[in-house]
Amino acid sequence: MKYIFVTGGVVSSLGKGLAGASLGTLLEHRGLRVTLQKLDPYLNVDPGTMNPLQHGEVYVLADGAETDLDLGHYERFTKCVLTRENNLTSGQVYETVLSNERRGDYLGKTVQVIPHITDEIKRRIRSFEKVGNADILITEIGGTTGDIEGLPFLEAIRQFILQVGPENAIIIHVTLVPFIKAAGELKTKPTQQSVAKLREIGLQPQVLLCRTEKPLETEVREKLSLYCNVPVNAVIEARDVDNSIYEFPLMLQAEGLDEKVCKLLHLDTPPADMESWKKIVRSIVNPSRRVKIAVVGKYVELQDAYKSIYEALCHAGGANDCGVDLVIVDAEEIEAEGAEKHLKGVSGILVPGGFGDRGTEGKIAAARYARENSIPYFGICLGMQIASIEFARNVCGLAGANSTEFDQETPHPVIALLDEQKKVTGKGGSMRLGSWPALLKTQSLAHAIYGHTEIAERHRHRYEFNSDYREQMEAKGLVFSGTSPDGTLVEIIELKDHPWYVAVQFHPEFLSKPNASHPLFRDFIRASIG
Ligand code: GLN
Repeated sequence: MKYIFVTGGVVSSLGKGLAGASLGTLLEHRGLRVTLQKLDPYLNVDPGTMNPLQHGEVYVLADGAETDLDLGHYERFTKCVLTRENNLTSGQVYETVLSNERRGDYLGKTVQVIPHITDEIKRRIRSFEKVGNADILITEIGGTTGDIEGLPFLEAIRQFILQVGPENAIIIHVTLVPFIKAAGELKTKPTQQSVAKLREIGLQPQVLLCRTEKPLETEVREKLSLYCNVPVNAVIEARDVDNSIYEFPLMLQAEGLDEKVCKLLHLDTPPADMESWKKIVRSIVNPSRRVKIAVVGKYVELQDAYKSIYEALCHAGGANDCGVDLVIVDAEEIEAEGAEKHLKGVSGILVPGGFGDRGTEGKIAAARYARENSIPYFGICLGMQIASIEFARNVCGLAGANSTEFDQETPHPVIALLDEQKKVTGKGGSMRLGSWPALLKTQSLAHAIYGHTEIAERHRHRYEFNSDYREQMEAKGLVFSGTSPDGTLVEIIELKDHPWYVAVQFHPEFLSKPNASHPLFRDFIRASIG
């Protein structure tokens, strides 16, 4: 197996995850089997308990792992199927080492960062060899070189490369080459210093991936090469993409990144044929029409909080030859100023997942506006719970209906905890998580959209639709078009007398790819255009 480590220098948010994912795309198109892994230096065991405004979205894998959003890029850009092994945090490393210690595995020894923590990190990097489903592992190290907390990971990589040899493992350093307006030029010093930081601890990158606003002239490349000890043809320009992140692999290919990587790793493969990828990019970048979609949420300040939703909408746009103009609406503003003011003129309304009661009344008002004005509505997870509450209150006349998450005393708990969830006390990893099967009602809209009756979708929620209310809501026109195979849990609801009103308890956004738009998103956009 061959190993590519992706480190980051100078500043965070350089798009290491996208760079790794894009390289993964290119290598797959060269006929190689790729898997990707992220090492996160923080001490949380996983990001499941972190605030989306701090950390961005929590990406859920089929096996129920709550992971970093970069894993979303990995799955969207490649064919790899990731498991909880693909996201490692310092918290997990320490958890394992400490439980080994308590069991007595290190009896007599002093347990230390080197070798015990670094050994555990190396074991987790090595673990993919046994699985045997990939030729190449791309491992991204979270954070920026120079961070104290990242040191054990970098030390583990130093040891690892020494063990497997430089023909089997390389380092790509993603760095910033800023343009300083006053001087009118690109500056290489920050990159020199971050590479110096790496060399101090015994790591020499083989490739520099330079994020830059302006083209890297030969002179700049030569300077970076000289000072950073990297051949000039391994100084790769990574300009900000103009239109779509899916252009990134094409840009890196034009710079010769995959060619260079294959040479370094002694991989003899034909060049990547990117024709089909180019077609996807063209459909996303040059659509012949546009549609306005409102996303009504509460984590609206941060692009990354609803990452997979925005990506899935973009894929669905591509599939419909339609550009999606997002109207990001803060649910609390709807509470203050009414739905009409913020939603007038949009062609579709999406309410995504969320936790806690801030903004819920605004989301309920948005669902009502969509229902009463025949605007396509797509509810996802909390968005389905919101739709249920709205229907209970305003169509079934159940005043005060709510979720017990927001109102423990509600007279009509249409969304509530199942008994097994009531017993749960810990917050970490204790929701209904990961891929669960569901059965669709024949002749329903959901059935028509999916084209079959058995589906499996990823979940991440604690609360469920309360089945005591099914009958009376059904009588008023709500269709329960998807349930768990035993019929007990509601997975999809839709409205009979409405052009397109579908709400799901799961997260379809995690299964959408640029070349395979999720059917629900695709049809939501189709209906919104109509
Ligand atoms: N807060 C809701 C629950 O826990 C919805 C979760 C979500 O939207 N992901 O059930």
